[in-house]
Amino acid sequence: MDQIAYKIHIDHIIDRIEQARFKVNAHHIVKIVAVSKYSTTEAVQGLYDIGQRAFGENKVQELKSKSETLIDLPLEWHFIGNLQKNKINQLISLDPFLFQSLDSIELAQAMQTRLAGADQVMDTLLQINTAKEQTKSGVSPVSAADIYAQIKEECPNINLKGVMTIGAHSEDKRLIQKSFEDTRHIFDKLDDATICSMGMSGDFELAIASGSNMVRLGSVMFPG
Ligand SMILES: *Cc1c(COP(=O)(O)O)cnc(C)c1O
Repeated sequence: MDQIAYKIHIDHIIDRIEQARFKVNAHHIVKIVAVSKYSTTEAVQGLYDIGQRAFGENKVQELKSKSETLIDLPLEWHFIGNLQKNKINQLISLDPFLFQSLDSIELAQAMQTRLAGADQVMDTLLQINTAKEQTKSGVSPVSAADIYAQIKEECPNINLKGVMTIGAHSEDKRLIQKSFEDTRHIFDKLDDATICSMGMSGDFELAIASGSNMVRLGSVMFPG
């Protein structure tokens, strides 16, 4: 795709988001995080050139190599993947704009110790497994509010700003919608949570209709 065709393609995606958010209400703002995990540094630069600033990666190593290569661009990097304990220090030194995938109290406690040691605070989302799928990470929806409160209480260097969820892996729209709505209900009850991150390339309109205000788009933002 040349640059003009690419810009038209991205404009079309933005249009779809505009329509979805407008149906919620005219003041409902949705932020796009472009997930570059299957893409090259050049592709990130190409999307930056037409206006995108927020990017997401799900592997610490990739986050490191892309963010270091593009250090001169004013990008904000989101970490959206499973964080293994042995990668905590590396993530802290990369200091992402937002860590979206905190998925257990144990990980929160381990991070708190290292963050305090580095005298650093990390903006973070609690990942909730509202799809209730074995293969997905995240805290269970029934304990999410308690865990959120516990982290707020015990982990001053983790600045929780809201929640993240991956929609149910299903052909059945109602199931996907249910996982988004369950997340939104939890989000609405949390104290000063502002970010509800849900929706990917295949389900972002449904996510926005269910109250998402941050979508994580990979394949539609980087069509091969
Ligand atoms: C890969 C990934 C995405 C983007 O997926 P697409 O379907 O390509 O849009 C979003 N969120 C997470 C957590 C991911 O791992």
